[in-house]
Amino acid sequence: MPADAQKRVPTLDQRAMHELAVTTNVLEIALRHAENAGRVREVRLVIGQLSSMIDDSVQFYWDIISEGTKAAGSKLIFSRIPAVLKCQACGEEYPIATRYDLTCPACGGLKVRVLTGEEFYVESIEVEECSHDYSDSRVGEDSQRE
Ligand SMILES: [Zn+2]
Repeated sequence: MPADAQKRVPTLDQRAMHELAVTTNVLEIALRHAENAGRVREVRLVIGQLSSMIDDSVQFYWDIISEGTKAAGSKLIFSRIPAVLKCQACGEEYPIATRYDLTCPACGGLKVRVLTGEEFYVESIEVEECSHDYSDSRVGEDSQRE
């Protein structure tokens, strides 16, 4: 293996670690949401165009870490938010052409602010209604406390 190929490995590992950490976070949110309910059916995530998150990786980690939890077998649905930049020199707002061309189309300026495109968040979580049996056991808990 060439030396520079080996050098690239830690970078990939770091990205993977980051994606795993974020996916774990999403799972925690989903499970908290399902705490008093049934299984998690569907989780909608918003990913900005400039976010380093990759749909496939998140789905890959999700399937692994959700196994054996209420979220096992649930679907992840991704919406992408396009990146919009604002030129600090002339105030022009424009969608990003490619990830590597940030230049302002109006004045050629390079000092830009990102308005949208860096997001990564949970938009909504769909859980099944809790079962009748569960409601009954909750009443039992309540009366025990008195
Ligand atoms: Zn400009």
